[in-house]
Amino acid sequence: MEPLKCTDGTVFSEKGRLYTVSRNPGMRVYGERLLTISGTEYREWSPDRSKLSAYITCGGTAFPFTRSSHVLYLGAASGTTSSHVSDIVRNGKVYCVEFSPRSFRDLVKTAERRDNMNPILGDATDPEEYGFLIDKVDIVYSDVAQKNQADILANNMERFNARYGMVCIKARSEDVTAEPKTVFEEARKRLLNRGCRILDMRSLEPYEGAHAIIVAERPRTVYCIVMKDDRFLMVHNLKRKGWEMPGGKVENDETTEQAAVRECLEESGYEAALIDKKNIGYCDVCVCLLGKKISKGEMESELFETLPDNLAFDTDEYENVIEWARCCIRQ
Ligand code: SAM
Repeated sequence: MEPLKCTDGTVFSEKGRLYTVSRNPGMRVYGERLLTISGTEYREWSPDRSKLSAYITCGGTAFPFTRSSHVLYLGAASGTTSSHVSDIVRNGKVYCVEFSPRSFRDLVKTAERRDNMNPILGDATDPEEYGFLIDKVDIVYSDVAQKNQADILANNMERFNARYGMVCIKARSEDVTAEPKTVFEEARKRLLNRGCRILDMRSLEPYEGAHAIIVAERPRTVYCIVMKDDRFLMVHNLKRKGWEMPGGKVENDETTEQAAVRECLEESGYEAALIDKKNIGYCDVCVCLLGKKISKGEMESELFETLPDNLAFDTDEYENVIEWARCCIRQ
């Protein structure tokens, strides 16, 4: 049994078949084959039964799931694929949304034996309906086989601050008369228009005719708390008419940390040395030490001991991250 590199070792392969490590040994979810090797039970994951397995089998290059991912799964049906996702995200959670009461009854039975699976009877086109049940998620996986599949994905990614999204596009659900390739291309463009970056788009032939999976990422942003002793650096944004921490978009070819340091230099003219980083959901925040001023910078900059009155962004969030930054530099 070999862990598959492209899945960060969360999915396994033996003799050309895919497997996940069962979260609930001894139990089949949909009649799948079980295999025990050295005391570990694996569940076969056939590309004929699951589009996510077909995506990997077809050479999919973008697999955002990790052992600790929190996943929102739209269109879970009775839980075939979502049970494998529950195996994969061993230390995470899967929120499974399904709107058919018949399928939902089976889904509940599957979830009863899997403590990281949370079934939700709801309509994926209206995320507010189930918003109160879900905190932030890392990934939205959508397989709802209905119209506007790209927008349903994008709306849920935005609502739950997900960085990644995977959508199964069933061409016939969008337009029965159109060429599948045209439908896939339109969905790809729609996700680009919604501000996503496309990581992969792949037909699921020969396992699922006229289906493709698109993997998308919402652009990351970062800002930094640049400290000099107990004071922090802010820049004055003329467009937003207020003070803010230096920051911006993470470009394709850079890490979040590199983007934080670059944005600080561009906006304030100051070099910054990275100390720590954390993910606050919709963006990352870096703590840095103030370096030399080496250029004028695009904006007016100033060191503050307390937050000024006219801020461009949320006061509570800034207060929390400044407190965290002060703790980081004292350590
Ligand atoms: N993802 C499942 C799997 O691989 O095990 C199969 C999903 S099946 C293709 C599509 C499911 O989406 C159906 O069970 C259908 O009831 C559900 N569905 C369709 N539209 C939906 C919506 N707006 N909200 C929630 N579920 C929806």
